[in-house]
Amino acid sequence: MSSIFTKIINGEIPCYKIAEDDKFFAFLDINPLKKGHTLVIPRKEIDYLFDLEEGLLAEMMVFSRNIALAIEKVVPCNRIGVVVLGLEVPHAHIHLIPIDSEADVRFSNPRVKMTEQEFEDLAAQIRKELQ
Ligand code: 5GP
Repeated sequence: MSSIFTKIINGEIPCYKIAEDDKFFAFLDINPLKKGHTLVIPRKEIDYLFDLEEGLLAEMMVFSRNIALAIEKVVPCNRIGVVVLGLEVPHAHIHLIPIDSEADVRFSNPRVKMTEQEFEDLAAQIRKELQ
């Protein structure tokens, strides 16, 4: 069975898309730790990030960099935190999270509530900043 993230890539489950290319896809986390919390995934459905072939992993980091630079133009923050957990969804993903302090990346923190319109507007603003 396809992962929930493959279903997002295939448009079977909606998402607030930030970017895609032939290898990767980025979209807003539906349960953000901070506004702008974004997930970057490979199209290839592989559970564990470090099982990705090394060239693909390196490209994923470059793809993530472009997204991170766009997020930080839109969301005021000290920097974009990069987190890999992968305990919930068995499809490799990198969390990009605007942070001001270490406390902002605690996954036990309450999540930010956003309306559909807020998600849409934020995704559109970030897309506009992509190079
Ligand atoms: P992890 O697997 O790294 O522990 O966390 C998975 C992340 O995926 C969580 O932050 C969760 O909010 C996010 N997530 C799970 N299901 C969906 C979904 O259907 N859509 C979106 N946009 N994010 C999801």
